[in-house]
Amino acid sequence: MVIVMSPDAGDTQLAEVVSTVETAGGAAFVSRGVTRTIVGVVAGEDVLESLDVVGLPGVAEVVRITAPYKLVSHENHPRTSTVNVGGVPIGPDTVTLIAGPCAVETPEQTLAAARMAQRAGAALLRGGAYKPRTSPYAFQGLGVEGLRILAEVRAETGLPVVTEVTESKDVDVVAEHADMLQIGTRNMQNFALLQACGSVGKPVMLKRGLTATYEEWLMAAEYIAQRGNLDIVLCERGVRSFEPAIRNMLDVSAVPMMHALSHLPIIVDPSHAAGRRDLVVPLARAAIAAGADGVMVDVHPHPETARCDGPQALTGTELAALGEAVETLPPLLGRKRTPAL
Ligand code: PEP
Ligand code: MN
Repeated sequence: MVIVMSPDAGDTQLAEVVSTVETAGGAAFVSRGVTRTIVGVVAGEDVLESLDVVGLPGVAEVVRITAPYKLVSHENHPRTSTVNVGGVPIGPDTVTLIAGPCAVETPEQTLAAARMAQRAGAALLRGGAYKPRTSPYAFQGLGVEGLRILAEVRAETGLPVVTEVTESKDVDVVAEHADMLQIGTRNMQNFALLQACGSVGKPVMLKRGLTATYEEWLMAAEYIAQRGNLDIVLCERGVRSFEPAIRNMLDVSAVPMMHALSHLPIIVDPSHAAGRRDLVVPLARAAIAAGADGVMVDVHPHPETARCDGPQALTGTELAALGEAVETLPPLLGRKRTPAL
């Protein structure tokens, strides 16, 4: 950390800054420039986190030099990670398609959606048994029954399963049935849930919060990693914007930024970003072109009767177009589509 003093700061103010750093347990190194003095701080992470110097008289600016997230940062892990989900890789050499219904509704609907996903080239099946809904009157998911359906469909199709867990108390039961736990947008900063998912021994997909900065997102990932689980896949799913025509605004920059900041793989969910079927394939193409390690989309055999997010679910021609994009684009980027097991 570097503390930049204002040009008119005097010796007393500098001495107070140095003493604050040292009292907190850090070492302070003073460099006097022509117009300004800077104080370099060397200290452990706990000291840096708690050090409160911004408001001290004479302090102009405080700059963090190292990322506050350690385990998930690229600084300490030069190689990009590959996360293994039930035998399916998500990492730098491949583009992994994850597809399935937004919500598990019935065994028939889930199996039909899984078959559609397979035909489009998906290697993993998605589907929510626990649905965090904005409205308390909306379908909340089938719970454990939904998990059983997902496990049956995995047995039938061979597709490993990604499904959301919304509460710490459900982490064990979801982990028993799923190959990867999803932490949704609304729970990105549910720290107890992040920690519980970090301790359960299954890969975790961490979706970006609706208004989360990159640092907040990676700090959330750090909560999972800190519990011993580095099998984390980030998922960009659009952020809140001022434009009402789209559900959320897909932040394509998040893909190269996360690759620059972190060793974790990053995938993109264009379905929850767009909220509209016609935008999903163009956004998926953009994600792959930007270097995403995977794409996750909603599919449904009958979107018009879907209990959740029907307007964004792919069927028919759009799904075929998605399958083609996932097959043809990755080789242009030196990758290949992850084949199904
Ligand atoms: C989902 O993927 O089903 C979901 C609820 O997504 P998000 O958390 O991104 O809204
Ligand atoms: Mn949804």
